[in-house]
Amino acid sequence: MKREKSEVLYEKARTYFPGGVNSPVRAFRSVGGSPLFIERGKGSQIWDADGNEFVDFCCSWGPLILGHANDRVIDAIKKAAEKGCTFGAPTALENELASLILKNNKYIQKMRFVSSGTEAVMSAIRLARGYTKRDKILKFEGCYHGHSDSLLVKAGSGLVTFGNSSSAGVPLSFVNETIVVSLNNEKAVKQAFIDFKDQIACIIIEPIPANNGLLLQRKEYLQFLRDICTENKALLIFDEVISGFRIGFNGAAGYYNVHPDIITYGKIIGGGLPVGMYGASSELMNHISPEGSVYQAGTLSGNPLAISAGIAQLTECLKPNFYTELEAKTSSFVNSLNDYAKLNRYCFRVFSIGSIFWFAFTDALSIETSEEIISESMNNFKVLHKELLERGVYLGPSGYEVGFISEAHSLETLNGAKRVIMECLDIVFQ
Ligand SMILES: *Cc1c(COP(=O)(O)O)cnc(C)c1O
Repeated sequence: MKREKSEVLYEKARTYFPGGVNSPVRAFRSVGGSPLFIERGKGSQIWDADGNEFVDFCCSWGPLILGHANDRVIDAIKKAAEKGCTFGAPTALENELASLILKNNKYIQKMRFVSSGTEAVMSAIRLARGYTKRDKILKFEGCYHGHSDSLLVKAGSGLVTFGNSSSAGVPLSFVNETIVVSLNNEKAVKQAFIDFKDQIACIIIEPIPANNGLLLQRKEYLQFLRDICTENKALLIFDEVISGFRIGFNGAAGYYNVHPDIITYGKIIGGGLPVGMYGASSELMNHISPEGSVYQAGTLSGNPLAISAGIAQLTECLKPNFYTELEAKTSSFVNSLNDYAKLNRYCFRVFSIGSIFWFAFTDALSIETSEEIISESMNNFKVLHKELLERGVYLGPSGYEVGFISEAHSLETLNGAKRVIMECLDIVFQ
């Protein structure tokens, strides 16, 4: 495989950007080698600067549920752009996207559009703090909620801990407001509510944790979180930036039938352009400025191009059987890989839900906490990633990241990719 052009671009990029990239995982640090520079995409395929073609399972880390450069999405963006990129004033488009979402989502009544998932979560946390008049928040090890200060905190040792910051530059005083516990652990959450009685504003969780492997939780656990929040007058936030509109319009809340107080969205909602959103009951959302006292704003919030892309994409997702077909395709892909691994006694399993999947080098039947992920298994992922790339299959460059199947991934494409993956598993385990 030719890599010259990507390599030259990367060398240049390293003089412009830290690590040569504008978001760290793109630098290929965990799989080694240098990143491919992507030139274009169409449907399930992407092409790099050297003209190599790949089946793409990264899908921009989730937003592209229709695949790359979907005609309807591109048309909508073009039409919007011709009318002007931004006004800093309300447009009818925002009403249109809001109504499309609210008609099909029974868990929120009002929303606010922002420009990224990070912003949505940061604002949701502020709302929870403003509403409850409490400062502390509780999060889980193995969940990612964007890069705002309060959330760049990882677990320390012990059942209930203030974490350690996972980034330099996060003040200790912020870290001390964030309690971090293990996923799937009732005892730790109960203990936190005892240790910090009447101080916890909210619990935030990815109801489908998909940023550190795919750590599927039991419905009972999510319901337990709902109940303990209610008992303690704390709010429950579902961070559905990745699961929202991926597992249907009601997201994980609908899938598990657990009603959170605030939900955050991102990724799919913007059709590949930068959009985030947080929503809740009208009563809660009315605490946001200018109606209420919790401040939150954005020069480009509700941007017409981004909102148009979102409308076009979500309209496609609402077509009959959209999600059932996507899930059926994914299950068949995942099941054959699991059957193959089993037949060959490979220590490998694909976990999946909806159209999200995760390649794990494990014999375990389920993995619910980040502590269960064996870091040495990432060496196997590294080999797999490299071999797949050589054969035209593009996975996100980290074994902790999940893969996505889009509407544009045809059965034929998936069958082809499946055979390549099997061949590469043979190499990993040879
Ligand atoms: C991607 C993601 C975020 C951050 O969204 P950005 O748009 O990258 O800021 C937050 N929470 C979850 C669950 C995510 O998957």
